[in-house]
Amino acid sequence: MKEKLKTLFESHFGGTPTFYASSGRINLIGEHTDYNGGFVFPGAIDKCIMAAIKENGTDKVRLYSVDLDASCEFGLNEADKPQEQWASYIFGVCREIIKRGGTVRGFDAVFSGNVPLGAGLSSSAALESCFAFALNDMFNDNKIDKFELAKIGQSTEHNYCGVNCGIMDQFASVFGKKDHLMRLDCRSLEYKYYPFAAKGYKLVLLDSKVKHELVDSPYNKRRASCERVAQTLGVETLRDATMEMLEAAKDKISEEDYKRAVYVIGEKQRVLDVCDALERGDFETVGDRMYKTHEGLSKDYEVSCEELDYLNDIARECGVTGSRIMGGGFGGCTINLVKDALYDHFIAEAKAKFNARYGHEPVVHEVIISDGARRVE
Ligand code: ADP
Ligand code: MG
Repeated sequence: MKEKLKTLFESHFGGTPTFYASSGRINLIGEHTDYNGGFVFPGAIDKCIMAAIKENGTDKVRLYSVDLDASCEFGLNEADKPQEQWASYIFGVCREIIKRGGTVRGFDAVFSGNVPLGAGLSSSAALESCFAFALNDMFNDNKIDKFELAKIGQSTEHNYCGVNCGIMDQFASVFGKKDHLMRLDCRSLEYKYYPFAAKGYKLVLLDSKVKHELVDSPYNKRRASCERVAQTLGVETLRDATMEMLEAAKDKISEEDYKRAVYVIGEKQRVLDVCDALERGDFETVGDRMYKTHEGLSKDYEVSCEELDYLNDIARECGVTGSRIMGGGFGGCTINLVKDALYDHFIAEAKAKFNARYGHEPVVHEVIISDGARRVE
């Protein structure tokens, strides 16, 4: 990818650029926990956005997107926001750095990526983190700390792309480290690396390619349930609740809210179990908790769908170590932890069975836990 960018940079702009990259991410476990003040457990992957960048001595940014075969030019003032959606991610990063008192001068950039768009692997965070990291290195002597770089990406989504996201995606993309997952505490923003050199296993996502649009926003309803239960239990968020507290207050809570809380409180413990298991290299326990998370998301939190449950069933039947929905639910991907020896069989089964029932194959994305934002030498 680097050689291609180098050639394209020469033909579009001329000169010798510097190369930067940042990655997409997976989340092994810890779903619907962020707004409950709980834990998520992401890692950066071997699919990235790479950019060739060079200061151009003007007050304009000139971009060429290889994958879209499109160009864009914009100034660095708030009024200069480009029309193109893809360019507004980069414009947003520039603006958020400037708003924080940082420096951005005009530059030329050619960029390309292999993070699948909209598959739940956060290509947008990869794009933001790549440019945030690059502009910090080129114009700010790396004085902006890494957490602020993640927040610059998050604010870009909020203020320039209309996506009201949490911090996990940008955090994972910026902080990602080869062979490590990160437990991020969404309340304190403390984080810790855990070794994830899953020797003998593969991580693979199966994208169902379905997206069920629901009339009443199920996400907001889940949030409201969690808030109601937290209030009844007298805690700020369900992060502070225990199963005992929930049981003791059961008659004051609706049956539906109770189920939602069972999932969230259980999920906190499952993340902690996975952390312990990884320190022992115990992937069987990791896989077991992934299945339990799926079950909880399907039966208690009720954010699964037929297609994702079917992919989960196929994984179980094939003897896959762990499998669950990744992301908010109602479609999208499952993430699967599969023994090397079972991999080909599982993928073949999943494709054939899913295709027979739904008329198309799931899209397979094998991922390796890799470094996040970096300069590419
Ligand atoms: P995701 O879940 O992958 O983050 P989003 O809809 O949030 O999906 O972000 C996808 C958008 O990010 C694309 O529509 C595009 O504007 C931008 N993007 C991501 N990857 C690339 C790329 N390789 N080239 C150009 N734009 C990209
Ligand atoms: Mg995104």
